[in-house]
Amino acid sequence: MNRETPAASFIPERIANLEDYVPVETDVKVKLDANENPYPMPEPLRAQLAELARSLDFARYPDPYARELIGKFAEVYGVRPERVVAGCGSDEVLHLLCQTLLCEGAEVVTALPDFSMYAFYAYLEGGRQVTAKRGADGQIDFGELKRIASSGDCRCVMFSNPCNPTGAVAPRDAVLEFVRSVSCPVIVDEAYGEFCTSDFSVLDMAGSLPNLIVLKTLSKAFGLAGLRVGFAVACEDIVRAVKRVKSPYNLNSFSQAAGVAALGRADEVFAQAKVIGEMTKAMYSALAGLAELGGYEPVEPGANFVLLKFGDGSRAQSLHAELLRRGISVRLMPGALRITCGTREENRLLLQEFEDILKDGIKA
Ligand code: PMP
Repeated sequence: MNRETPAASFIPERIANLEDYVPVETDVKVKLDANENPYPMPEPLRAQLAELARSLDFARYPDPYARELIGKFAEVYGVRPERVVAGCGSDEVLHLLCQTLLCEGAEVVTALPDFSMYAFYAYLEGGRQVTAKRGADGQIDFGELKRIASSGDCRCVMFSNPCNPTGAVAPRDAVLEFVRSVSCPVIVDEAYGEFCTSDFSVLDMAGSLPNLIVLKTLSKAFGLAGLRVGFAVACEDIVRAVKRVKSPYNLNSFSQAAGVAALGRADEVFAQAKVIGEMTKAMYSALAGLAELGGYEPVEPGANFVLLKFGDGSRAQSLHAELLRRGISVRLMPGALRITCGTREENRLLLQEFEDILKDGIKA
């Protein structure tokens, strides 16, 4: 950023140093770059939302504590409503947690690779990311994480489980043992939990263990990414503090009501998410069959996407560009591609184009 102009000089260095957010390509035939639910919203739910648009009183401010929404979420996930706070996507909830828990110079420990917004929100609050490395299979080394989190000024540990982008899943027992072994808050982000079939979730322990905070979202399995609804579940002291920090009307009335309606169809959503999880495994097997030709290593998925790790990062770039040219958007990451599971037809198209590109020989 040019800091020479008078207005630019008003921006503190920490903010001036930020890079622009680059949105992913949206004008494509097949969009497999953002880990969204690929299926259209069920018609009965769409009709319910249309009715809400007709009946809600948009001249009035929304419920600042999103009580009905939190009540429904608590009922569906079997947690206590006093232990839940809601926000505009788990992104906002994460930012609020950073505002609540961190201070200038605070160390935030993450296990890379992981969701990039952890470091971003920590940085905004003056925090500093300290990193542990994941193993080749994407797994967290909890011993190393504990060693790093136990030294110095660690104010918080954050990781996603299942992990975005690797898709690796840490078992519940290992997560709980880790949380019990450290004294700082641990944020476990279970955004993709509904797609996972193994025993990983620690949601039921959030709040019982005072330092465990679990993040949830309606953006993935529930298919409401555009309406921005997310939650944190934590002990009441933390929830009360976050509620004091948040802006009073953070979650608009339409999203609150839409969230209640979507949560009312939870059984259907959970069943669909399991099918998507299985389809992701099938996509992984097909991509594994092309691994030698493609020069990559696929990571076994525990959510709704597959990560391909390339020895040669320029091959990932070329493949990404060629797929985009053919109307398919996947996520390019350093030395890797992350491919979201689409509908059966989208997956078929992806695999066909992918194989064609590899057989034609990509120019890296
Ligand atoms: N956590 C993880 C691991 C994610 O991948 C994402 C979105 N990609 C989020 C949180 C944020 O989701 P949202 O703000 O839409 O709830």
